[in-house]
Amino acid sequence: MLSGELWSAHPHPYRDELLSSWLVRVAHANGLKVQTFCAQEFGNDHELWNRDIDRLAPAWLIESMSAKTGTPLKRAWETTLLGYEGKLYDKYHPAGQLRWVLPLQIYHRKRRGYGLQFCPKCLAEGFEPYYRRSWRVALYTFCSKHDVMLWDRCPSCGNGVVFHRLELGKPDLIDGPSLQCCWFCGFDLCNAPAVPVNKWNERMFLSWSRTLRLIDRGAVDSAGFDYSKLAVLHQFCALMVSTRCAPKLMAYVQERTNQSPIPLVKRRMAFELRSLAERHHVLGLSWWLISRWPSRLRAAWKHKVVRYNVLGKDFDAAPEWYLAVVEQLIHRK
Ligand SMILES: [Zn+2]
Ligand SMILES: [Zn+2]
Repeated sequence: MLSGELWSAHPHPYRDELLSSWLVRVAHANGLKVQTFCAQEFGNDHELWNRDIDRLAPAWLIESMSAKTGTPLKRAWETTLLGYEGKLYDKYHPAGQLRWVLPLQIYHRKRRGYGLQFCPKCLAEGFEPYYRRSWRVALYTFCSKHDVMLWDRCPSCGNGVVFHRLELGKPDLIDGPSLQCCWFCGFDLCNAPAVPVNKWNERMFLSWSRTLRLIDRGAVDSAGFDYSKLAVLHQFCALMVSTRCAPKLMAYVQERTNQSPIPLVKRRMAFELRSLAERHHVLGLSWWLISRWPSRLRAAWKHKVVRYNVLGKDFDAAPEWYLAVVEQLIHRK
């Protein structure tokens, strides 16, 4: 029986924990399956798990979680992806792609969403496993703490991570599998191979790791960090995979950096919908291209692998320092 001001068990969110992970832990700490807990506490009218609650968290849920666990309201909101507004993406909107935010693709029943990544070593650390908010970020392809690649799917069966589905169809489950198990095949995700990151360019990976640590800290403690750099990075990732806008760009950068090509899905799709392996490869090439700004871009332009007119394509609110360089390229034509 849950009564009183606080829930009888009321764990607080762990560092950088996602709302969905926190909610499942709260339910389990109270001895209930998460669906049962939610029906009992919030009523049957509120179906939570058919949406991405980390992105579309209703205010009443955050307010309840805050009040019933004794967590400051601000901290409770920080478990959602809203905190990246004005940093990773410009303005929050409930539908459509948010820059750098991995979609869960819940509505695509046939498509297996790969929108929640994990580091097997982080998952195995601490008192119990939990899922980090930074693992929903598309440029967060490796763990800067353990220097290993993240995973965006179960290495055993290939399904995406959907930890609340662990309980479906298991009516009496209370002490069931923990959050670290694959919902489909039961594989312990902490045992996923820890693959070391291949840091093929020291300076560039240093810069990338620093950025990931910033995101890891919730992107709150970011004084002095210029987020517009990430907007430009995103633009280059988009161009790099575009066979229409810059068909030779990726091959050029691969050659300059001595990186072997990897198979990429040719279809036009948002960068955030690509697999972890594709994103990691393209991100590395794009970081390299924006490093030593703007000399590498100028060299690419001289080699005619990128035209100035695509540099600003679909790039809303491009930063001034970037547009100034594009402008220079136009006049050097
Ligand atoms: Zn880790
Ligand atoms: Zn599995």
